[in-house]
Amino acid sequence: MADQEQEQRRIQVANARPEDAGRGLARIPVAVMAQLSLSEGDAIEIVGKRSTPARVVRPYKEDEGLDVIRLDGLQRANAGVGSGDFVAINRIDPRPAQRVVFAPAQDNLRLQGNPEALKRVFFKRPLTAGDVVATAGQQQVDRADMPAHLRQMLAAPAYALQEIRLVVVSTTPKGIVEISAETEVELRAEYEEPREARRADVTYDDVGGMAETIDQLREMVELPLRYPELFRRLGVDPPRGVLLHGPPGTGKTRLARAVANESEAEFFLINGPEIVGSAYGESEKKLREIFEEAAKAAPSILFIDEIDSIAPKRGQVTGETEKRLVAQLLTLMDGLEPRTNLVVIAATNRPEAIDEALRRPGRFDREIIVGVPDERGRREILGIHTRGMPLDPGVDLNELARTTYGFVGADLSALTREAAIEAVRRFMPRLNLDDGTIPPEALDELSVTRDDFLAAIKR
Ligand code: ADP
Repeated sequence: MADQEQEQRRIQVANARPEDAGRGLARIPVAVMAQLSLSEGDAIEIVGKRSTPARVVRPYKEDEGLDVIRLDGLQRANAGVGSGDFVAINRIDPRPAQRVVFAPAQDNLRLQGNPEALKRVFFKRPLTAGDVVATAGQQQVDRADMPAHLRQMLAAPAYALQEIRLVVVSTTPKGIVEISAETEVELRAEYEEPREARRADVTYDDVGGMAETIDQLREMVELPLRYPELFRRLGVDPPRGVLLHGPPGTGKTRLARAVANESEAEFFLINGPEIVGSAYGESEKKLREIFEEAAKAAPSILFIDEIDSIAPKRGQVTGETEKRLVAQLLTLMDGLEPRTNLVVIAATNRPEAIDEALRRPGRFDREIIVGVPDERGRREILGIHTRGMPLDPGVDLNELARTTYGFVGADLSALTREAAIEAVRRFMPRLNLDDGTIPPEALDELSVTRDDFLAAIKR
């Protein structure tokens, strides 16, 4: 694919901002653009373990002087890299596609296809078979100097009421193509196993208001999981246990999933109260089994939600079962072989309520606070949950972020869902439900308005 005439350029990967996510953009330094004779809107191929295309956009002002390429979580997964890794970039000329076949990348999703609408969503997007892509919908572009085709790509309408992840099953011709007005688009109804199933899963782009927390976790968990040899050579023991503390609904579980996905690690989840509720002797057995499973599947992350229910202070518990469960957990933590590439992340809302022995060195000896989001955080979270949603221009996410003081991520997610339901409710009378189809023109008029959000807040 690469134009052999062109110089290849190696460059380090950094995370995209959430508002760029799912749009097929790559922000690269102006100097690199000049070096490869690239203009904004040109297509490039990003080559890591695999290759994936993107359109070049100028860097953010704050990035001036930084030699990095900003890619979103899906792009990083498509290229088989994590942030911090190096990729090569080449200039390419995508060929117009005669045909592109998509399928839902999420296995719990069956799509009633409307290929014409999809064509508009991915218009001008460079695509290649095997990639996982998102229907991220419109991005507001306030720069008049942006080339028309890039602008057109960013003005893509929303496809459904929420962002949907799709696999590019095949393209004709093969290689990197772009959808044009003549392209025939097919949408398969059924899930198609992506090259690696977990690529359609949550990434760092899907957790809002947590830039610092993500940085901390990357250093503590992602890097050791990705580069165990490096840590061994340096003689540094990667942490075994990390304690996340913060109120419910602030995104701890989602964050742990994202770290697992981005570290290309398997994810295992233990729900504290569920384990405790098991029959006599069963709880310890379950705990042992899942530790064993996770160790076998390494690299992996074992997430223990509400660890305070499994490991309350032993002085304060009366039940024998609880005491044995704490003891079992300590034994399991201590028994982890240093070479086993497994990190246990535990979450609690009450760090003071857990057994102190758990927090000794070699156990849960790192702590990260996941707080209630501030206004900026709420704005970012709202951006994530309205990604791919057809928003009326009257919706001002900044205003919503201001007026939702005290809301955590889970509340904001529920709010956007409620607002969408409001919109559908308004829209219902205009649908012809008898023949079971929704004409694409009708869908174009479905949008979630400011009033829908206000109504949802009141509830
Ligand atoms: P916790 O584990 O802290 O109780 P979860 O990770 O289970 O919270 O969050 C529940 C849901 O709320 C998530 O699936 C997500 O939709 C939403 N959510 C919570 N926090 C965030 C966040 N920081 N960014 C985006 N979505 C969030």
